[in-house]
Amino acid sequence: MRTAAHPRPADPLLDALRAIVGPAHAVPGEDAPGALVDILQRHTGRARAVVRPANAEEVATVVRLLAAERVPIVPQGGHTGLAGGGTPDASGTAVVLSLSRLDRIREIDLDNDTVTVEAGAILDTVREAAHAKGRWFPLSLPSGGSCTIGGNLATNAGGTQVVRFGNTRALTLGIEVVTAEGEIWNGLRGLRKDNAGYDLRDLYIGSEGTLGIVTAATIKLFPLPAAQQTALLKVSGIATVIALLRHARRGFGAALTGFEIVSAATWRLVAAKAPEYRLPFAPEDGDDLWYVLIEIADEESEAHGRERLEAVIGAALEAELADDAVVAESLAQREAFWAVREHGLGEAQKRDGWNAKHDVSLPISRIPDFVADTGAALRREFPGVRVFVHGHAGDGNLHYHVARPEGTGPDYWDAHERPLRALVHRAVTARGGSICAEHGVGQLKVHALPDSKPPLELALMRRIKAALDPNGLLNPGKVLAP
Ligand SMILES: Cc1cc2nc3c(=O)[nH]c(=O)nc-3n(C[C@H](O)[C@H](O)[C@H](O)COP(=O)(O)OP(=O)(O)OC[C@H]3O[C@@H](n4cnc5c(N)ncnc54)[C@H](O)[C@@H]3O)c2cc1C
Repeated sequence: MRTAAHPRPADPLLDALRAIVGPAHAVPGEDAPGALVDILQRHTGRARAVVRPANAEEVATVVRLLAAERVPIVPQGGHTGLAGGGTPDASGTAVVLSLSRLDRIREIDLDNDTVTVEAGAILDTVREAAHAKGRWFPLSLPSGGSCTIGGNLATNAGGTQVVRFGNTRALTLGIEVVTAEGEIWNGLRGLRKDNAGYDLRDLYIGSEGTLGIVTAATIKLFPLPAAQQTALLKVSGIATVIALLRHARRGFGAALTGFEIVSAATWRLVAAKAPEYRLPFAPEDGDDLWYVLIEIADEESEAHGRERLEAVIGAALEAELADDAVVAESLAQREAFWAVREHGLGEAQKRDGWNAKHDVSLPISRIPDFVADTGAALRREFPGVRVFVHGHAGDGNLHYHVARPEGTGPDYWDAHERPLRALVHRAVTARGGSICAEHGVGQLKVHALPDSKPPLELALMRRIKAALDPNGLLNPGKVLAP
């Protein structure tokens, strides 16, 4: 702690930032420790300052100041990102630019079925505001109570309803961006068709704060469904899970909004480490046993949705695509199913100790051989490791987590993390998959990216970065290695 005898040296940059945003909204980095470490406590950095502008104009003024001083900028939303993208590096030279005060819902246009919202608005708050107007905002993440719309756009977030609505990019019609030079580009068009030139919107979406700073977005809304129905199924064999997905797509059509899977090993871990989550099926032994959460949204009525769910699931049981099934009888039961999926799995793994998380996607047809071969290779090369898989199987997205062998300490990872990750990444790339399905590259995968993409693709990305951020000040060291 500093004492009056050792006052903090004055920083003229901090004074200049305070002149733009007000004294309370720009602080030295060390006074905002939460901004310097990621949610998984895997990446810790330092910052010269943390600044919280109130609107797009202030963001632009801050960016112009920092650009003139050649100060790196790390945009930050809810700081729930899982790839370390919003955490500054250890140099202490960067300024963290928090969008948290840009949290207004500017407009809900019921005829156009859109919401225009500022970047710092919390995802679940926007969902609730749309709901209050009789509209469905279908982006849904377990982190929805903390993550922001700007962060969702910057990471092109996925979540649990992609199977029907696509990821954030598919939902976004327009954006407002502050460029690396501090100009405000108002691309807030609520258009479903716009082929007037290059698609700048889609370039900024998913760029993780390395090309520009998102300050607002116009996003599609949908009619609220009459009813949502949820079921949990027990399925033997990952190949059968994929056959069940085909069956569900055919049976439910556009009504299918969720198809989530959890491996039996993960299920058993929840029972052992997080028993407060009540599991609808008792844990069982088995390496290739899966639990599948299916959700549908019916446009007609509760009774119609229920009938439809029971018919399609009944047919699945008859065709031996599932061993057992339970249908949620009430909202409380539905929420309990989702609580296991959204919170129980993470909680159990947290209590088990840090594990090597991989957020990968594959062509759905390649999921069975990826799961079988990668599990076998890991057990061969790294005896005793425990593999915990869950994910958005309807989108080909697996969260493939590898825990150290029982009885080893965290130092197990010193020698094993790098080769173990390389094995998983090779298995994904060899099958035409992606090593960054929905959480982004951030700093976590920045060095792995070159092995998973053709050199020309990386070169094109670098050209885009050089064109839009010529001084390399926007989130340096993220997505592309310096
Ligand atoms: C429990 C849990 C569950 C999760 N589940 C999912 C899931 O199902 N699907 C999924 O996709 N993700 C998931 N995530 C990851 C995370 O919530 C998402 O990536 C989310 O979109 C990040 O939003 P944020 O506001 O927290 O962004 P931050 O973490 O603050 O930032 C993420 C990245 O975006 C950049 N950024 C943030 N705001 C802006 C902006 N306005 N302009 C430009 N760049 C910006 C940052 O620099 C950083 O690179 C989960 C996280 C947790 C903790």
